[in-house]
Amino acid sequence: MLLCALLAFLWGGVASAQTVGAHTTYPTAVDPRLEEAAPRPAPPSAVQPSAAQPSVEPTPPSDAEDATARPSDHPLAVGLEVPPVPEGFKTHDGGWIHFAYQPSSRARVETLKLAADKAREELREMLGQNVLERVHVRVGRTVTEMETLAPEGAGYPKYASGVAYSEIGLVLLTEQPRYPGERHDLVQIFRHELAHVALHDAVGHRNVPRWFNEGFAVHASGEAVTDRMQTLWTATLAGNLLPLADLAQRFPADATDASIAYAQAADVVRYLLRSHESYRFRALIERLRTGQDFEAALSDAYATDLSNLEYEWREDVARRYTFWPVLFSGSMVWMGALGLFVWGWRKRQKRNRKILARWAVEEAREDARRAEMANRPVHIVLARPSEGMPLPPGERISRPDIPKIEHDGNWHTLH
Ligand SMILES: [Zn+2]
Repeated sequence: MLLCALLAFLWGGVASAQTVGAHTTYPTAVDPRLEEAAPRPAPPSAVQPSAAQPSVEPTPPSDAEDATARPSDHPLAVGLEVPPVPEGFKTHDGGWIHFAYQPSSRARVETLKLAADKAREELREMLGQNVLERVHVRVGRTVTEMETLAPEGAGYPKYASGVAYSEIGLVLLTEQPRYPGERHDLVQIFRHELAHVALHDAVGHRNVPRWFNEGFAVHASGEAVTDRMQTLWTATLAGNLLPLADLAQRFPADATDASIAYAQAADVVRYLLRSHESYRFRALIERLRTGQDFEAALSDAYATDLSNLEYEWREDVARRYTFWPVLFSGSMVWMGALGLFVWGWRKRQKRNRKILARWAVEEAREDARRAEMANRPVHIVLARPSEGMPLPPGERISRPDIPKIEHDGNWHTLH
């Protein structure tokens, strides 16, 4: 059973190595495969949840390769204002956070209310800043409705399930997934978008590299942990980890590389935030807040440069994922196969012993029966049918003088 589970996982890992990026669905807040943002047309004056899909949007230039661009779920909102709460929406004022949602979404929004304070506390601890002083959260029932909640004139991501307009502290969410059956953890998406807003607050609304921005949001949200582990594991085995210098200069557009880039970015942030170095992360944020260039701030805060940081991170990744290659290496599989063979052989031996014992009992019984039959007396009878002796069933006496023997209930003719 264990071996089967291991083999199944191994097969899953191999399969994912072939398809990662093509079908993976993380991160939940934004699809890394399709990174584009489009200027959004002005929303209708009233919310129309059942309205048809919006008319064709202008085709924007892809920013997938621009490492300085903001993540698509984090569009610029400079000079914009939070739109008024749509008619018919319920509201909840949680002090620092204000929710607006359709009455039918109340149950889902309750989970967000419960998660909000903890998420803010964790983000403040990580960033070392009093972030998220005022946040507006608008929850649409569908992506179509979510789009109507965006500020007029703001960019709007084409494929995201959540949007963060950090400059105005606005987060948009959709209760239903964009695609049927798609993984859609609303709390994780909420945490992802809050993380974008929090980081933006923490660095004083300055730009940070895209990998760092998205990596922080993915890590802080805790989304798609298993998928990211599997992507990193397969990328480590295949030697496909991306150089950090490349990531800092150019965010990959290719689907597979984009998946690796997101997993890698989140893991580098995890590494930067590791418990005994978390004070350095807060120092990095403080330096960024004062306007220091990202690489210089990183070097100063961690007393290393990007290439050394990458070297250390790769060593850390190798240590963390050594367990997986060893566990699923060929020798381990063969050891498992050997164990399975021994288990099967012993089971077969046990079954054979049972069969032999049964045969011995049956043989002894047969011997006893034969011995009993051998000891029975043999009756030889010379008689005519007319003298009253019973004939063997179905037999006619054509030669009445031939003697017959009765033995063990059967008649035999003597010749
Ligand atoms: Zn994001």
